[in-house]
Amino acid sequence: MKLHGLGTRPDTAASASPVSGAMIPSEAGNAAPSSARRARRAAALGAATLVALGALTACAPADPAPPTASPGTEAPKADKPATPTPTAEPHAFDRGAQSIDDPASLWVVSNKARPLNPIDWAPGDLVATNGVENEFAQPLREPAARAVEALIGGAKEAGHSVWIISAYRDYATQVALYDGYVNRDGAAAADRYSARPGHSEHQTGLVVDLDDHGSCYLDGCFGDTPAGSWLAENAADYGFIVRYPEGKEQVTGFMPEPWHFRYVGPDLALEMRDQGVTTLEEFFGLPAAPDYS
Ligand SMILES: [Zn+2]
Repeated sequence: MKLHGLGTRPDTAASASPVSGAMIPSEAGNAAPSSARRARRAAALGAATLVALGALTACAPADPAPPTASPGTEAPKADKPATPTPTAEPHAFDRGAQSIDDPASLWVVSNKARPLNPIDWAPGDLVATNGVENEFAQPLREPAARAVEALIGGAKEAGHSVWIISAYRDYATQVALYDGYVNRDGAAAADRYSARPGHSEHQTGLVVDLDDHGSCYLDGCFGDTPAGSWLAENAADYGFIVRYPEGKEQVTGFMPEPWHFRYVGPDLALEMRDQGVTTLEEFFGLPAAPDYS
């Protein structure tokens, strides 16, 4: 299926180096068309109602979180007394330390070619966030909840007022959302801004959409706000990545979403930042997933 419909802009991903050694600079003036903005805003508001309903079934008493083993990637010690260069110590990052297929893994890669398996998978360790604004009170998996609290706290210390505007959405909610978008905008348009059920990262419980109470709610301009810039630069320290970066629509399958942060844990997030690799697909050597298979 060809991607078209909402807006036209250069296919930057096609010309970008798949693995760049440096961060890809943001493109200027890349705000989504207003129709798309309205659609997303309406989508978010629609999601509120659906989620309020969905939460009733989604928030069954959570299973206790299983003890998560440390990935166990110990940096080899230098055999001579080195000058203290904590971040420059050589290390081998183990890409196989955690599964990218298991939906319960913090590293699970979900995209248009990789549905969650089972497709209606639901996390067992959903918890509420504490001490942060959470517009629809959607839960998160426990590690992501604690991490986003720290991330928002860090942003606050830096002078930014950040809140959660979306978090966990269950399968049934995504079914209702996606069907509504298709009915309104058609499948081609809906597929650019909404995931089909079973393909939404929000279903992992590891994703938050963030906002700064400004005028860029679910809008491409959020990345250019002081809060959005701070989050993009510092998210990795808290274990998050910007999952749908600029210029990678043909890799991730989704238009840039500077508000959508995926928890992968600090080990992976920092490694990706160090290497300048901005997508999970490229980091793990997976095929680009521009469309549903
Ligand atoms: Zn999102």
